[in-house]
Amino acid sequence: MKLSARARSIGASPTLALDAKTKQLIREGVDVISFGVGEPDFDTPNHIKDAAIEAINAGFTKYTPASGIIELREAICAKFKKDNNLEYKPENILVSSGAKHSIYNAVQVLCDEGDEVIIPAPYWVSYPEMVHLAGGRPVILPSGIETGFKVTAEQLEEAITPRTSLMILNTPSNPTGAIYTRDELEKIAGVCVKHNVAVISDEIYEKLIYEGEHVAFAAVNPEAKEITVTVNGVSKAYSMTGWRIGYAGGPADVIKAMSNLQSHATSNAASISQKAALEGLAGPQEPLEAMRVEFKKRRNYMVERLNEMPGFKCLTPPGAFYVYPDITWLIGKKLAGKQVTSDSALADILLDDARIAVVPGTAFGTEGNLRFSYATSMEKIQEGLNRLAEVLETLE
Ligand code: PMP
Ligand code: GLU
Repeated sequence: MKLSARARSIGASPTLALDAKTKQLIREGVDVISFGVGEPDFDTPNHIKDAAIEAINAGFTKYTPASGIIELREAICAKFKKDNNLEYKPENILVSSGAKHSIYNAVQVLCDEGDEVIIPAPYWVSYPEMVHLAGGRPVILPSGIETGFKVTAEQLEEAITPRTSLMILNTPSNPTGAIYTRDELEKIAGVCVKHNVAVISDEIYEKLIYEGEHVAFAAVNPEAKEITVTVNGVSKAYSMTGWRIGYAGGPADVIKAMSNLQSHATSNAASISQKAALEGLAGPQEPLEAMRVEFKKRRNYMVERLNEMPGFKCLTPPGAFYVYPDITWLIGKKLAGKQVTSDSALADILLDDARIAVVPGTAFGTEGNLRFSYATSMEKIQEGLNRLAEVLETLE
């Protein structure tokens, strides 16, 4: 069969592809330590699982409204109010099958054929592909270690053209853990409002903050709220990646358009998962803090060890669960007898010769970085970094 040009233009998500490869190697008996995918290693808290079991036993196993059950949308409104000082009604909320799905829907309804969509780099792997799938053109705004991996309002203003319709912002960031301050967000919002550029603000790592505070982009002022779709979800905060629940909050007409689209593509997110997410958001929040404290310990350990390795230079990321070292010094050298020609080549060598999985920076739109996820146990982090240190002894 002839594949469409659209299908031919995209490949698999590099993070998910690496995860599949790592899991396959582990199944085959190869002892690989994964710093690849961003997936909390903690189990979903028991009270959340129990809510799902109850839903099944009560026969809550049928279609729900496409945009999600009213109780969950109300709980999301309460969350937005409590955590972000954002006033929304259920008509402003869409529940999707993961935050990824909410972002996809938002891009589809906010980006026309030929529109330019501004994406700060390093970016999460799926943003540019989603823009391509909507017929838009990603315009990448670079940022580096010297600005803490953040773009500025001035940079944004320079990149805006009459074709710019949308910006995709991510705070805290995957892959760098950078967090935008209120002041930085206010300036960015000023530029977006002035040029009538809509914003998708992906705030899925909101609960994973070790220094500083999370500020919702839509909450910086009333004008910002009018132009923003805020996306969040339960995957990272409640260790619920497999349940597939994410959500969006925004102007009612945009949410309605997203819901219409979703109603033709996937209908509602799984009814049972919606009940579980409701318990996650409305139930006890203690497990969340316990996970955050553990992540912080791991982050500190990983940053310290990585900075001791030859050729590795990294900031202490204030949020999310990734460390993003610069490894440009290693490019052109030899490791385990192999030429390090790029960050991807280095990631391949690390998988083959150190048996650790990491994602190369090129997947996130920068060259000369690796992404290490520390969403894995302290023992594995220690062992994985020992392996890295060992392979670095072969450096020529
Ligand atoms: N946004 C970012 C920045 C992410 O890292 C992820 C990865 N899981 C998602 C969105 C999607 O999360 P999910 O679909 O599991 O809710
Ligand atoms: N977002 C996670 C990551 O970056 C999960 C993989 C994905 O959804 O792409 O590793």
